[in-house]
Amino acid sequence: MLTNEHTWVLIENKQEQEVLRYCSNCGRTVPFLDTMIRRHNSNGKNVYRFAIYKCVKNHTWNEKLATYKAYTDHREVLDAETFEQPFELPRLHLSQYLENGVQEVTILIEHVEGRFRIDKLLAEQIEGWSRNQVIHRIKAGQILVNHQIVKPGFTLSARDTIKIRVL
Ligand SMILES: [Zn+2]
Repeated sequence: MLTNEHTWVLIENKQEQEVLRYCSNCGRTVPFLDTMIRRHNSNGKNVYRFAIYKCVKNHTWNEKLATYKAYTDHREVLDAETFEQPFELPRLHLSQYLENGVQEVTILIEHVEGRFRIDKLLAEQIEGWSRNQVIHRIKAGQILVNHQIVKPGFTLSARDTIKIRVL
C-alpha cells in the first residue's frame, strides 16, 4: 500500500490574543495582535528576544520576552538581528493523494505545545473534510492513533502516530 508520511509540530496559535496599547502612529489606544514572529537581537553581550505585535494599520510594537547572556548561553554572539517564523502546518489535499495512488497517510506528532483535539485539528488541516466527516471516520476506524480507535475528542501528545485511510 502506498503511504505518505508527515511530521507535525503542534504549537497553539495565540494570534487571536489582543493587547490594548497606545499606538504612537495611530495616535490612540488600539488593539495589537501577536504576529507569532519572534525577533532576536544581539549586541555581543546579550541576546534579546521580542514578540512582534501589529496594530490594525500594520504599525509594529515589539514586546521584550527575554534577555539571554551571550556567554552563559555558550553561543558565539555577534551584532545581529534574526527572525523566527511561526511554524505552519501544511494542509493535506487527500483527493490529490488518491489520484496518485496513495491510500494511507501517516502523521507523526513530533512536538506539542498547547491542547489539540484530533477531530478539530484534522478538520482544519484536511482540505474538504468537515468536522463531522472527520468524526465519522474516527468512529469508523478509518483514522487511528497509535493503531487504535480513539474518541473524536482525543488530545494529541508528542510521539503519537495518526494513520488516515484515504477513501
Ligand atoms: Zn497603529
